[in-house]
Amino acid sequence: MSASILNFGIDAVYFLTAAIFIIGLKQMSSPVTAHRGIVWAGIAMVVASVATFGAPQISLDVGSINLQLMLVAIVVGSTVAYISAKRVAMTDMPQMIAMYNGMGGGAAAAIAAVELVKLSAGGESHGLTIQILAVLGAVIGAISFSGSAVAFAKLQGIMKKTLRLPLHQVINIGLFIAVIIFGYLVATADSVSFNHVMIFFALALVLGVMVTLPIGGADMPVVISLFNALTGLAVAFEGFVLNNAAMIIAGTVVGSSGTLLTQLMAKAMNRPISNVLFSSFGSDGGAAVEEDIEGSMKEIQANDAAIMMSYGQKVIIVPGYGMAVAQAQHKLKEMGDLLEARGIDVKYAIHPVAGRMPGHMNVLLAEAGVDYDNILDLEEINPEFPTADVALVIGANDVVNPVARSNPDSPIYGMPILDADKAQNVIVIKRGKGSGFSGIENHLFYADNTQMLYGDGQKAVAELIAGIKQL
Ligand code: NDP
Repeated sequence: MSASILNFGIDAVYFLTAAIFIIGLKQMSSPVTAHRGIVWAGIAMVVASVATFGAPQISLDVGSINLQLMLVAIVVGSTVAYISAKRVAMTDMPQMIAMYNGMGGGAAAAIAAVELVKLSAGGESHGLTIQILAVLGAVIGAISFSGSAVAFAKLQGIMKKTLRLPLHQVINIGLFIAVIIFGYLVATADSVSFNHVMIFFALALVLGVMVTLPIGGADMPVVISLFNALTGLAVAFEGFVLNNAAMIIAGTVVGSSGTLLTQLMAKAMNRPISNVLFSSFGSDGGAAVEEDIEGSMKEIQANDAAIMMSYGQKVIIVPGYGMAVAQAQHKLKEMGDLLEARGIDVKYAIHPVAGRMPGHMNVLLAEAGVDYDNILDLEEINPEFPTADVALVIGANDVVNPVARSNPDSPIYGMPILDADKAQNVIVIKRGKGSGFSGIENHLFYADNTQMLYGDGQKAVAELIAGIKQL
């Protein structure tokens, strides 16, 4: 078969798989269809990868060492990915995404490295535009790779503290300028110097590390989402270098969806991306802020809380990061079923940034078998709080803090919150008096209609279940 027919066939397959990627992505926007969307996108990825082996430079060169290396890499990579994805705990998902995402950026940078090293060895140039795209993809991919590695280390607990050097941002600006200078030298040179290519990559990798080091562990999901968008962009640029339509389309889809997700997270926290990147917000889990608060925290026992819920008509459950830590979702589902069996309307209120990654709560509740129709977003559930007999807040803190509505001096002022304080009664399950991610006191805990049920989330809900069963 001639090379042009092979190329045409491959482009047709790429076009089809690109359409399936986009349909898959659309399906991921709802928990009901998300699983199907992942499967479709995965199949499209396998088809696109297999089709690539039909490319003339590969298929007409069967037996070459490159083909063997590619097959070995695919077998090793797929095996490691399959085993690790099967074993990973739901709570460790953000760092797994960080690692895979970083590898995407690293792969894009590696493609650029091969092309630029070829040029330095006297290879044929593909023109200034392609050289510029290679350099742009290289710098973005390298930053995403090394930055994601730091994000992984922080989320995995390997790197426990944030690190901020004296004049950290000044050093970063210096590094950034140096990357631009060496990038310019590499992109525009007629004969590219090998040393310049190496210095350029080293600087870009160091910049990725330096940008990520001072960012607090709890802000990492936003950073990972940003790196994800950058990786997409890098892959799209390298797609132009290799003249590969699938890379251009997939990279653009990842880049744009990653950008939208990053913006959505920043909006839900009411913090600009610059604040996430440069402020060290919540870097050590948040330092407590001294404040004058009226009222006092009142404790409630599990049996009394069970009675309060069992004789009401509507209970709204507000899960947060602490529910994920306690892995209390299965017990919550069991408790919800018991209350529903008594004719009580039970709903789950999800804040867009409850937990530590987008969709964190939805995934856990879905895993426990909670009906999707009872899981409601902020805009849908907020008008219902005033008619709820009980709002049961479990391991959520910042996302229900009313100061976000009332105190312009608060670091979380303006962040949209769940109006749990407007329920007739509020029961808060948490282990102690510790603050949330932002480090500020929660005025809800001191309100007249709020009572605290202290204890680990899973244990506290188990006690509530026992209490309800006794009635
Ligand atoms: P918070 O981090 O504000 O609060 C979690 C609460 O859970 C704490 O008050 C803690 O109190 C309690 N807790 C911890 N472990 C347990 C346990 N085992 N059992 C019971 N309670 C427990 O969580 P929210 O979900 O309310 O807010 C999320 C925060 O994270 C927001 O500030 C958001 O901006 C930020 N964020 C979210 C991202 C996302 O994508 N979702 C990304 C980046 C940041 P105690 O120690 O007393 O038990």
